[in-house]
Amino acid sequence: MSVLIVGSTALDSIKTPHRENPRLLGGSASHAAVAASFFSPVKLVGVVGDDFPKKYLSLYRRHKIDLEGLQQLEGKTFHWSGEYEVNMNNRRTLLTELGVFETFTPALPKAYQASEFVLLANIAPALQHHVLNQMRRPKFVVADTMDLWLNIALNDLLKLLKRLDGFVLNDSEAHQLTKEDNVFAAIKKIHKMGPKYVIVKKGSHGSILSGPRGFFVCPAYPLSKVVDPTGAGDSFVGGMMGCLATARGPIENHLRRAMVYGSVTASFCCEGFGLNRTTKIKRSQIDQRVKELEKLTDF
Ligand code: AMP
Repeated sequence: MSVLIVGSTALDSIKTPHRENPRLLGGSASHAAVAASFFSPVKLVGVVGDDFPKKYLSLYRRHKIDLEGLQQLEGKTFHWSGEYEVNMNNRRTLLTELGVFETFTPALPKAYQASEFVLLANIAPALQHHVLNQMRRPKFVVADTMDLWLNIALNDLLKLLKRLDGFVLNDSEAHQLTKEDNVFAAIKKIHKMGPKYVIVKKGSHGSILSGPRGFFVCPAYPLSKVVDPTGAGDSFVGGMMGCLATARGPIENHLRRAMVYGSVTASFCCEGFGLNRTTKIKRSQIDQRVKELEKLTDF
């Protein structure tokens, strides 16, 4: 079973207190697709401009990511730039240039429309709707978002929540959406907005799942050095969806384990700039860290 992933396919310029790295391969869909590719085949939906380096296309291909749904249009690739503070937790967006995303309307190739696992990675909710409208009968649809869409496209997002199985957001976004400081109170309110499963990401403190079987607290892999956390959230949800797509039987039975695999995949993302580290690891390294996490959380 493959995962269909739509989201941003970007060039990221990232500044940390130690280094600056311009025009890396980035975007929510790129991070999620590479992460998911360790577990299942991936179909990518996105758009890049004519400035998109060929080496990045090769990188997708090396991960066997299906690119039939990736359009290449005249114009500039989506460009995002961000700067981290010394603690590497606080990030400031310096620049967002939509480029070809401004006029992008994804037309799904026929082979994509029957995909059962759909990840609507962070992108304008209107685009997430547009992709969902073209799907036949997906089995499990999960969406991610960011504060920008809560600010400028809240109505579209609220409509989307009613169409989802799962919604993934970080703790500050959960607070922004519900006005609740307490994360569990926020989760309760988000369930009422539609999704059966709510996952709140808490950065280096892991994540919380809430669903019909109650809560699950998913640990983050303990890293003593974070080089660049950009895309960690996307890697987490991408890894989780890739893992779910290959599991048999009810999704509920696999969700917790899939989150742990997503969490570990995200830990590799944090160890290099952009996708530099994630694209160099092997599946066996993910499995090794999952085993370590099992030991760390056993009591
Ligand atoms: P994360 O660190 O998980 O929040 O994801 C960072 C990624 O989100 C970067 O690779 C950016 O290219 C991408 N990104 C930043 N702003 C936007 C936006 N407005 N829409 C879609 N993707 C974005």
